[in-house]
Amino acid sequence: MQFRDLQAQYQVLKSQIDSAVTAVMTDADFISGRKVSELEEQLAAYVGVKHCISCGNGTDALTLALMTLDIGAGDAVFVPDFTFFASGETVAYEGAVPIFVDVREDTLNICSDSFEKAIWKVKKEGKLIPRAVVTVDLFGQPADYSRIKEIAKEYGLAVIEDAAQGFGGAIDGKRACSFGDISTTSFFPAKPLGCYGDGGAVFTDNDKWAELIRSYRIHGKGTDKYDNIRIGVNSRLDTIQAAILQVKLKAFEEYELLAVNQAAEFYNRELKDVVKIPTVMEGFYSSWAQYTIVLDSETERDALQEQLKVQNIPSMIYYPKPMHEQTAFADMDCCKVELDRSSSLCKRVLSLPIHPYIKKEDQEKVIEVIHHFK
Ligand SMILES: *Cc1c(COP(=O)(O)O)cnc(C)c1O
Repeated sequence: MQFRDLQAQYQVLKSQIDSAVTAVMTDADFISGRKVSELEEQLAAYVGVKHCISCGNGTDALTLALMTLDIGAGDAVFVPDFTFFASGETVAYEGAVPIFVDVREDTLNICSDSFEKAIWKVKKEGKLIPRAVVTVDLFGQPADYSRIKEIAKEYGLAVIEDAAQGFGGAIDGKRACSFGDISTTSFFPAKPLGCYGDGGAVFTDNDKWAELIRSYRIHGKGTDKYDNIRIGVNSRLDTIQAAILQVKLKAFEEYELLAVNQAAEFYNRELKDVVKIPTVMEGFYSSWAQYTIVLDSETERDALQEQLKVQNIPSMIYYPKPMHEQTAFADMDCCKVELDRSSSLCKRVLSLPIHPYIKKEDQEKVIEVIHHFK
């Protein structure tokens, strides 16, 4: 059994993917090819925003968003404490200070009370200017944007939606990657919509920002790439990856998202009386980047992981360490509020195998081990 079975997916889509990739090689249309702009239009339409700008990976997508908002030295950007390193790393890379915010015990997404408290603290200290919040759609479920956006508006902060794990998620039918002033995603192979290497995208409704992002991603280009009007980066999506993503997006829309939701429902039904299953808020839809249960203690979590391992069942700990304990942030004065829930969650979470191609009998095996353990 695999944690996320990308080989099974390839076997199903093989003929379409092979011919799409071959076409790119035949045309030698490797960089910024026609399929890249086609894909950008398809992604923008799927998400329901005006502009999609593809780029090299989800980390670059965040960097491009921060550059576009002109965030740098002297700025504070609020970031959930329980997320992948890149959500905060990119803020620090731009010279700003990531201020870590605690998460909710139920959805594991950013906690609005902790967010507001962190803003007060930063304002009271008066050393940094609060500029933006990076909301993370953790494990596939969008953050609670209604409250987060109210707070951001009240304090004049931009909302950057880090939907690296959230692509395909929705709130009342409105899709992830449309909730931020600028939203970003990743096409890393194991993400809900993955390519066969690195890839990412930025989404926005703002024409001026879209133009800036298109410039920043290709060496700050002006009229063409040999007319350079600002300092940018080199971050493009390969045409081969775009061709693969076109095939995968179709499968994602047609059945993968549905299939992974059915797999999650099966776990929910069978595990809800035994362990703390993931909470999906009313009206919210998850794309199940992860199916993460929460145990009572670290001892219990580690013992269950060991039991699964004995049965050859892979499981993962996302995340073993909160952001504020990462050595890289140690000298940056990133902690203004209590981060107890995120610290505790790192000791108790366990992510189980899930993907659109998981077999029911494999899920039954996982369920059986957990029932037996509890
Ligand atoms: C994966 C991930 C990223 C980074 O994406 P890459 O494509 O690997 O650079 C950023 N934020 C979150 C929350 C992620 O899970």
